[in-house]
Amino acid sequence: MSVLGAQGAPYVFLSLLFASSASAEWHYEQQAIMGTEVTVQLWHEDDKQAEQLIGQVMAEFRRLDDQLSPYKEDSELSRVNREAAKGPIKLSGELAALIDKSLWYSQLTDGAFDISYATLGKHYDFRKHEQADEALTASLLEALNYRHLEFDKRAQTLRFGHEMTKIDLGGIAKGYAVDRAVAILEDAGVCCASVSAGGDARMLGDKRGQPWLVGIRHPRDKSKSAAVIPLTDTAISTSGDYERFFIDDHNARVHHIFNPATGKPADTAAGDSDKLISVSIIGPRGFDTDPLSTSVFVLGKEKGLALIDRLPGFEAVVIDSNKRLYFSRGLNNPQTDLSK
Ligand code: ADP
Ligand code: MG
Repeated sequence: MSVLGAQGAPYVFLSLLFASSASAEWHYEQQAIMGTEVTVQLWHEDDKQAEQLIGQVMAEFRRLDDQLSPYKEDSELSRVNREAAKGPIKLSGELAALIDKSLWYSQLTDGAFDISYATLGKHYDFRKHEQADEALTASLLEALNYRHLEFDKRAQTLRFGHEMTKIDLGGIAKGYAVDRAVAILEDAGVCCASVSAGGDARMLGDKRGQPWLVGIRHPRDKSKSAAVIPLTDTAISTSGDYERFFIDDHNARVHHIFNPATGKPADTAAGDSDKLISVSIIGPRGFDTDPLSTSVFVLGKEKGLALIDRLPGFEAVVIDSNKRLYFSRGLNNPQTDLSK
């Protein structure tokens, strides 16, 4: 695997797709689901079947959104948030698996990944430029801790050990969803497809003999790419401080990735080369690359890259707050300075 050029949500180049009419077997669809843009492109010689498969994939995204959205009152997640402080709640097998995986990453990252970030995260609204003030942050910080999540894997129950604790799966659900989508296409015999949901993408096979070219956005210039990576049959997830954010009255960038230690968005002010503003993780499944991209973002460059170098099968492309690009060991490329 190599990185092609210096140019974070990953996006898959479409230019070849529409280049000639001979490529009529490529099918493409984009819909707004899970608070983001879901895109599917796949190769199929039968138009009708392709349409049907795209419909199935979109339905799967909608099913997961209905189950996991914190904004839908009747979602399973909302019910857990309402009731789990009162006693153990029986979970669906799927939600139990998501919580189990989330807790695994909390332990692996010493709490950098923590779905109970929502205890404070729910008080942020990036569209309305709202954030928790210092007093609220101080009063809820103790409740923000994955150790309050009393999860019984066998019984598939969850109880919150602190009455103010809340959870949100925004750091793992989309990666899981792209895996589910790819499983649907694979089962149907599709050879080549790419599915993405915001910053999480997964490729099934290649692009008919060529690798998929996945671009990582320049975190401070929408018109540019930071890197273009050729990928085959793999997942890539990007976390950045530029997707959902606002600049507050103190000129601070308030974004959607929280440092559970402070209960606030991870500090990404320029100057410190350990701070990251974009993290892309490449690996077999979105179920892992998604939580890992959020984790490495919070951990910072040194600890984050060390973690990825320790995990077989995963690679990372990160951009620090001084806009320098770094790679995990397996990508072994020289540093590239984007600020020039
Ligand atoms: P996206 O694909 O939505 O851009 P990321 O993979 O970058 O998401 O993860 C950010 C999302 O993860 C946030 O929108 C939030 O829902 C959730 N999140 C934020 N901070 C944390 C954290 N420290 N641990 C787990 N989840 C988090
Ligand atoms: Mg993530």
